[in-house]
Amino acid sequence: MTKNWYPIIDYNRCTLCLSCYNFCPHEVYSISSDGRPIVVNPENCVEMCRGCQKICPASAISYYGDT
Ligand code: SF4
Ligand code: SF4
Repeated sequence: MTKNWYPIIDYNRCTLCLSCYNFCPHEVYSISSDGRPIVVNPENCVEMCRGCQKICPASAISYYGDT
Protein backbone atom coordinates (compact mmCIF):
# COMPACT_ATOMS: atom_id res chain seq x y z
CA MET A 1 0.00 0.00 0.00
CA THR A 2 1.46 3.33 -1.02
CA LYS A 3 -1.34 5.43 0.42
CA ASN A 4 -0.28 7.33 3.52
CA TRP A 5 -3.68 7.90 5.16
CA TYR A 6 -6.30 5.23 5.73
CA PRO A 7 -8.26 3.77 8.62
CA ILE A 8 -7.07 1.00 10.89
CA ILE A 9 -9.70 -0.83 12.93
CA ASP A 10 -9.02 -2.13 16.41
CA TYR A 11 -11.11 -5.29 16.42
CA ASN A 12 -10.67 -5.62 20.16
CA ARG A 13 -12.87 -2.52 20.49
CA CYS A 14 -15.09 -2.82 17.42
CA THR A 15 -18.70 -3.79 18.15
CA LEU A 16 -19.45 -4.62 14.48
CA CYS A 17 -22.08 -1.89 14.26
CA LEU A 18 -20.96 -1.15 10.68
CA SER A 19 -21.50 2.58 11.10
CA CYS A 20 -18.13 3.20 9.46
CA TYR A 21 -19.08 1.09 6.45
CA ASN A 22 -22.43 2.84 6.14
CA PHE A 23 -20.96 6.30 6.63
CA CYS A 24 -18.02 6.39 4.23
CA PRO A 25 -19.09 7.50 0.73
CA HIS A 26 -15.81 6.43 -0.88
CA GLU A 27 -16.07 2.63 -0.68
CA VAL A 28 -13.02 2.37 1.53
CA TYR A 29 -14.80 -0.30 3.55
CA SER A 30 -16.38 -3.61 2.75
CA ILE A 31 -17.85 -6.28 5.02
CA SER A 32 -16.05 -9.56 5.57
CA SER A 33 -17.82 -12.91 5.51
CA ASP A 34 -17.87 -12.90 9.30
CA GLY A 35 -19.48 -9.47 9.46
CA ARG A 36 -16.48 -7.29 10.19
CA PRO A 37 -15.86 -3.95 8.51
CA ILE A 38 -12.66 -4.28 6.52
CA VAL A 39 -10.56 -1.71 4.69
CA VAL A 40 -10.49 -2.83 1.07
CA ASN A 41 -9.77 0.40 -0.81
CA PRO A 42 -7.34 2.40 1.33
CA GLU A 43 -6.37 4.47 -1.73
CA ASN A 44 -9.91 5.92 -1.77
CA CYS A 45 -9.59 7.38 1.71
CA VAL A 46 -9.46 11.17 1.80
CA GLU A 47 -6.32 12.41 3.53
CA MET A 48 -7.06 14.00 6.90
CA CYS A 49 -10.72 12.99 6.76
CA ARG A 50 -11.75 11.65 10.15
CA GLY A 51 -15.40 11.09 9.39
CA CYS A 52 -15.57 7.41 10.27
CA GLN A 53 -13.46 7.94 13.39
CA LYS A 54 -15.88 10.61 14.60
CA ILE A 55 -18.97 8.45 14.19
CA CYS A 56 -17.46 5.23 15.58
CA PRO A 57 -19.20 4.64 18.92
CA ALA A 58 -16.39 2.40 20.16
CA SER A 59 -13.39 4.63 19.39
CA ALA A 60 -12.01 1.74 17.37
CA ILE A 61 -10.69 3.69 14.38
CA SER A 62 -7.28 5.23 14.03
CA TYR A 63 -5.37 6.17 10.90
CA TYR A 64 -2.22 5.01 9.30
CA GLY A 65 -0.26 8.23 8.80
CA ASP A 66 -1.69 9.96 11.86
CA THR A 67 1.08 11.26 14.08
S1 SF4 B 1 -18.05 2.23 13.47
FE1 SF4 B 1 -16.48 1.48 14.91
S2 SF4 B 1 -17.52 -0.06 16.15
FE2 SF4 B 1 -18.80 0.29 14.36
S3 SF4 B 1 -18.11 -1.28 12.89
FE3 SF4 B 1 -16.91 0.56 12.47
S4 SF4 B 1 -15.01 0.31 13.67
FE4 SF4 B 1 -16.53 -1.13 14.48
S1 SF4 C 1 -11.58 8.75 6.86
FE1 SF4 C 1 -13.26 9.53 5.58
S2 SF4 C 1 -12.77 8.82 3.50
FE2 SF4 C 1 -11.50 7.65 4.93
S3 SF4 C 1 -12.63 5.79 5.33
FE3 SF4 C 1 -13.22 7.23 6.94
S4 SF4 C 1 -15.05 8.32 6.18
FE4 SF4 C 1 -14.07 7.26 4.46
